[in-house]
Parts: sequence; C-alpha cells; structure tokens
Amino acid sequence: MTTSPQAPEYILEHTFGYTDFRGDQRAIIETLVEGQDALVLMPTGGGKSLCYQIPALARPGCGVVISPLIALMQDQVEALRAAGVSAAFLNSSLAFHEAQQIESQLLNGELELLYLAPERLLQPRTLELLGRAQISLFAIDEAHCVSQWGHDFRADYLQLSCLHERFPAVPRVALTATADQRTRGEIANRLDLTGARHFVSSFDRPNICYRIAPKNNPKRQLLQFLQQEHMGHAGVIYCLSRSKVESTAAWLQQQGFNALPYHAGLSSEMRADHQRRFLREEGVIVVATIAFGMGIDKPDVRFVAHLDLPKSVEAYYQETGRAGRDGEPATALLLYGLEDVVKLSQMAAQSEGNEAHKRQERQRLDAMLGLCEITSCRRRALLRYFDEELAQDCGNCDTCLEPPQTWDATEATRKLLSCIYRTGQRFGASHVIDVLRGGDTEKIRQFNHQQVSTYGIGSDMSANEWRAIVRQLVVRGFLQVNSEAFNAIQLTEQCRPVLRGEETVLLRTLPKATRKAPVNSEP
Ligand code: ADP
Ligand code: ZN
Repeated sequence: MTTSPQAPEYILEHTFGYTDFRGDQRAIIETLVEGQDALVLMPTGGGKSLCYQIPALARPGCGVVISPLIALMQDQVEALRAAGVSAAFLNSSLAFHEAQQIESQLLNGELELLYLAPERLLQPRTLELLGRAQISLFAIDEAHCVSQWGHDFRADYLQLSCLHERFPAVPRVALTATADQRTRGEIANRLDLTGARHFVSSFDRPNICYRIAPKNNPKRQLLQFLQQEHMGHAGVIYCLSRSKVESTAAWLQQQGFNALPYHAGLSSEMRADHQRRFLREEGVIVVATIAFGMGIDKPDVRFVAHLDLPKSVEAYYQETGRAGRDGEPATALLLYGLEDVVKLSQMAAQSEGNEAHKRQERQRLDAMLGLCEITSCRRRALLRYFDEELAQDCGNCDTCLEPPQTWDATEATRKLLSCIYRTGQRFGASHVIDVLRGGDTEKIRQFNHQQVSTYGIGSDMSANEWRAIVRQLVVRGFLQVNSEAFNAIQLTEQCRPVLRGEETVLLRTLPKATRKAPVNSEP
C-alpha cells in the first residue's frame, strides 16, 4: 500500500524525519485535518508544533500560526525552511518590500505556514489580507495568554475570538503547556472553542527524579551532587542573579568542570557560543538565569539544578522539564533557603502591578514553598498543581525514596510564636532567633530583649534548626514575612489553634548536617 504525500504519516517521515507520532499527536492532527477544532494541553517539549504543522501541510491553503514570541517564531520558520517547507513570518522586523513579498506569496497559494504575532493578525489590513487567501487552519500557540489570571496575560489574545466569526469554516487549534482547569475553561470560552475536542496530555515526566533540599552549604551540596551522580554529564544550573551565575560558573571551572555562564548581560556572541557548545560538546554545564532554555532542545540533559528557589511551580516545572527529554533517567535538584523566600517576596512586592497581582505572585511563591516543605510524594503534589491526580506515590522522588522523618514541633512552634509576639512582631527571623536562644547582641541590648519572658527559652536548638522551623511555618501560613517592614516576621490568624493548644504541628526533621552547620546566610 502506498501512502499519499498528504497523509500525516508521510509528512511526519518525509518532512520531519520521524517514524512515530508521540502521545496524542495523531489524534490531534486527524481532528484538524477533518476540519474540527481542538484544544491541546501538552507539556513543554511534548511536541505541540507538529500538531498544527502537519495538518497545515496536509490541508489545502496556508496554516496561520499566532504566537506571542517573536524569537521563537523566527527559529521555527528557519527550521521549517530547512526541512523544505514554505514558511514565513510577518512582523515589524521586516522591511516593507519583504512583507509585501510574503503577502503576495500568501495570495498566490505559495505559502504553507505563516507565523504572526496577535497584534499583527488583528490589524484590519491583515485580517482583510487573510480574507482573500486560502487558510488551512489557525493555530493559537501559548493560548493561556487569554487568561487574566495568568502571568502571561495578553489583551490582544482576547480578540482572537473574532477568527471564528470571520472564518467560520477554518479549523482552529489552541495550544498551551500551562493550564489548570480554570485556565482551560477560560481558553475554551474566550476563544469561542466550546465545541473543540480537548486533548489533555499527562504532565508527568516519570524519568525525572525530583529532589529538594534545604540549602546549608550550597557549594558543597552541589559539588557532591555532581561528583557522586553526574560526572561528565550535560546539565543546567539555574541561579537567580547574573552575579551568582558568573561566580558559580567560575567556581565550577576551578573545580575542573566544563561550566559556562549564560545570562542576558552577556554579549549575544558569547551567549550564542555558549549555547552552541552546550548543544554540541559532551558534558557541558550551563550556569544560567532563567533567560536560558526557551527553545533549546537538547535531549540528553541529565540534570537540572536550582541554586535558588524558582518563583512559581510553573517555572519549576518548565525549568526542570529541560532534563531528560530522551526519556533516560535524569535528576532535578533544588536547594532552597529562607533568604530565597525573602528575596522573592521582595521582588514580588516591588514588581509593577496592582495589589491583586502582588498577592497572586505571593501565592505562587507560597505554592512553590509548599512543594519544598511537603513530607509526601513530590511528583503527586507537582501534578496536583496542574490538576492531575496520580493514582499512587511515584517511587522516584526524594520523599518516596527516603521518607522524611517528622517530629512533633508543637512546643517549639509555640515558643517561637510567643517570642515573635512578645518582641512586637517587628523583627526579622535572625533577631527573634537570637532572643529565643538567649544571645547577647547589640540589638538585644538596645531593645532590652533580655527582659522578655521568652528570652533564652529556645537555647536547646541551633539557629539553623530555628531557621528551618520559621521557614516551614511561613510555608504553612502560620507566619508571614512583611517585606514592607524590614522583613519582620508576623503571626497570622492561623496561629490561634496552635497557641491555644488545639493543634499539633508536625515538621520535617532536617538532616544532622543542616542542624549543626554554621548559619552562613542572613535573610
Ligand atoms: P513543544 O512545542 O510542545 O514544547 P516541540 O514541538 O518544540 O514541543 O517539540 C519538542 C521536540 O520533540 C522537538 O525537537 C521535536 O522535533 C520533537 N518531536 C516532536 N514530535 C516528535 C515525534 N513524533 N517523534 C520524535 N520527535 C518529536
Ligand atoms: Zn514520589
């Protein structure tokens, strides 16, 4: 039997060089080829592009792809052209005559795929142009941008519902990698896709082993991790700041690793060079801010390490998702500390945007911390965040492999809460801990805190242990860090039952090293 050149299998093999469809790809492609609408939820790296590229080639006319990311648009168009597909994009970077040429190609039926930013598409001139061309489908990429709750909200996306009115016969597909159930509903409603077939892929990446540990001596922890588990492996290490990227990369080089920095402050030549070496050479470690990763597709990344807390569970999922795309075992290691929480809360508080937005950022951060501090299966919690339920514990995360010990911290919690209360809820964690431990500091003398009744009642525990308790209580919502008042830690409503003795508090027991190690970072 011969397959026609329009058959999806044929295009998959002859244009893209792959032999099998992945996951829902075939069903999605068939739906669109038949002229029906689809809503596709697939994790990053899952293979969303083929879901619209193949039907665009299989159907007569040009497929129109709406994407908010101009850089990715260019990459895709280049890759398609290299595969022999007649593809183009229209955006403000083009000269007038270039744009004109693409427009006439479109009208002459010579284009197979056209990429557009939403604002370009919505210009009356563009809509009119499309009206005169034959369109095979509309693909709306990053469809979660319609959600006003999301961080990527784009007002232009809301108007994309006009496509349905203007082009009722053209099938549409909306695609996203980030959508909880609420966002999914919003996408369907706002884009007028209520009749679309939904394809929801699992977000699980079973070959990634998730590990999250408190930071006590991050350099030593990282070195051990690399030496014991990932010698000679390619990996990505994420840090929050450019200076930390630089210093970490330099330090790793001194330790004999092939490590390269990557952040937006480097020249574009250097960034391109480091990216190239990461892709081509063996065992290169890239130390990067989050600027690294978008559109980078390297299948054999064996580990992703975070030396600072990601600002949300979505970010954590996306960044760790760059490990192990080849399906072979990979590790995601996150080291986090209270100072990260403080830094990120400050960034959230200082970010532009109204109060509601800031509260949301804060909520996202809390959810991320919650994932760090849970004592049950990490993967279940991670997937639950995306509204996906795993039937059982995964067996491939640190809490499954080494169930954390818990201890009854009710008494310690009460000591801490009352010390915060007695010192007026005006001080940061370090000072409160000094008071609890009966320290003799200038600040204690200045405020006469030797006199409060909680002075020295916590001398049985190390400062690090207290710090961990503070962190876990922040995560659980017993305490809040007030970034507008010098990061003073304050009680919340939730404390009442504990203070009244009606609730026990079980906390994660920290490894011995954490308890004894000196406190090397101030919040
Ligand atoms: P997404 O947009 O969902 O993040 P992409 O469309 O960029 O993912 O695909 C991720 C990678 O997987 C790409 O390198 C792509 O070529 C590859 N890929 C997609 N579908 C298949 C397939 N059926 N077989 C093999 N590789 C595939
Ligand atoms: Zn697990």
